Formats: sequence, C-alpha cells, structure tokens
Amino acid sequence: MSTPEPMYGWALDAQGRPIPIAAATRGAQGYRCPICNGAMIARKGDVKQHHFAHESLYHCTPENVAAVIAGKWLVMQLAQRMVLKKSAMVGWALGDRSFEGDILKDVIAIVENHETEHGKADIALIGANGKPKTVINVTSTDATSAFASHGITVINPPIDVFRSGQMDLDGLLKASEVIGGWRLLNIDGELQTEPIKLREILQRMVTYPPFQFWGKLGVEGPYTDVIRFGEHLLWLSPEIWQVTVGGSINRLGPELVVTIQEWPQDNGSVVVLFYVVLRDKERAIAVRRFAHPDEVHARLSAAFRMRQVTVEDVARWLATS
Ligand SMILES: [Zn+2]
Repeated sequence: MSTPEPMYGWALDAQGRPIPIAAATRGAQGYRCPICNGAMIARKGDVKQHHFAHESLYHCTPENVAAVIAGKWLVMQLAQRMVLKKSAMVGWALGDRSFEGDILKDVIAIVENHETEHGKADIALIGANGKPKTVINVTSTDATSAFASHGITVINPPIDVFRSGQMDLDGLLKASEVIGGWRLLNIDGELQTEPIKLREILQRMVTYPPFQFWGKLGVEGPYTDVIRFGEHLLWLSPEIWQVTVGGSINRLGPELVVTIQEWPQDNGSVVVLFYVVLRDKERAIAVRRFAHPDEVHARLSAAFRMRQVTVEDVARWLATS
C-alpha cells in the first residue's frame, strides 16, 4: 500500500499570489508549490477534503507550504479591505455577553514580521501613532501576554483551519480567539480601558492618605463592571483586570474569590490590589498601600471567617482593616 497523498491547503496561483484551496478553481490552473516551485493541482471533488496536490515528486510538507504563504495571504486580504475602507470583524464574549469589533478601524498599515518593543508580531496592524493596535499570531504566540498588557489586541486564528486553507477571511476571523478585544469597541467618551492608563489610575487611588480605596463595580450604559474614580470611569471586567493587573487567585471562602496583586514601590512601600468576586457575579475592587510588604499577608486569613457579607463589605475590609 502506498502512503496517502499529502493534502495541501495552500499554493501560489499563476500570478504568484498565495491562494487557499477554498478560493481555488478545480484542476491544473498554473498553481505552484511555494517551496519546490512544482506544479500543483486543485483537487475539489465530492469525496475527499478539498486540497492541492503536487503533480509529481514532492518533499514539501503541507505545514511548511502553509507556513511560507498563509501569513502573506492574510496580509494581502487585510490590505485589500483596508484600501477599500471595508471592515474585518472579529467577535468575542465577556461573561455572557458577546461583542464584535473591526480590527481595521483606524489602521494605517499592515506589516508582516514586525519587531515591536514587546516582541515580534507575525502580523501587526499599525495605528496612526505608528504603533500596533492589533497583532495576529500566525506561527508564534510567545509575546501574547506582553502585547495584551500593553493594550494591543491579539488575534489567534485557529491554526488547523488556517493550514488547511478551508476558509475565507471572514470565516477565519470569526473562528479566531480574540484577546483584549474591548479595544476594538467604539467606546464613547470617558470609559477607560487602556491597560497602561488603568494601571496609572489604580496607582493614583492610593498615592495620598488614607492610601486606601474600595468600591463595588457597577453598570454604566451597556457596560458592567465599571467604577468611577474622580473624573475617570474605569472598565474593570474580569478579563480586563486579568491583562491589566493580574495576580494570584485566592479562594477565601466557598463563594468568595479574591485575586491579589502586589506592586512594590521605589520607596519600599507596596501597593496591593484586590479583585473581589462573590457568588460568581458580584464584583468589587480594593486598593491599598502598605508601608511595609510584611503587613500584607497577615490580614488576609481573617477573610475566611466572614459570613453573610456583601462584596462591598469584603472590599472595604480588605482596604481598611
Ligand atoms: Zn513542493
């Protein structure tokens, strides 16, 4: 028995442009392999999964063929949309709500293999300030959390679907994982969602005596998990807190989960940030500056004993007791 013929999701067309099998015309249409330059045929019958096949001898793997051209195709497709001022929509969920946003909004350039201060982006969508607004991971997800914590939206296409070439642009984007998608929303006015700004404001909450702040997260228009501080309105959903602040997760009771982060200060004090979730749906934050790091942990254990409390009680207690 011979081994089954490898199924390629990608080829170059007669003009040398990357083409996924989903967009190919059946048969020998001048398609070529990007690696060995051999002729390829689009097999689009009724029985097998649609694929390209080498006409003769081949040593190129479907993975390598996809790796060398799929990213280029994505850049070309997005660039075409950008030039035509069309959108490229992605979707994601926050809790039980779903959102969608246009990754091409306010984008002025699309760059492959872009070196940024936070790591290399396979594809970077650059905004008017010259910095990436969104990055798309094609081969590597190494810098994902660095990008996300600096307010850059990260798109992870489903790699198997992408390699197989069995998709179009909208289908691929729709099936992609979106991290930090809230940056793509048309959030009007004062609602603050930028990780860097949020961290600044959280820090400012405890810059002056009494060095403590707490509050319940509430609803503001269509947004849940919002809190006001001075003139600022902060959106602090669990997902946003995760990439903006992060921290260690502590189960302090059957229905009480507190995420704790510590920010050591130059003067030896430490800012401690608490994200409190009670009964899975009530949320609050507490921020406190301790003069010495030793003070932090001693205070936590007593939370176990709390019963019949509101989420605000817990936050106040963490900030003040
Ligand atoms: Zn080949």
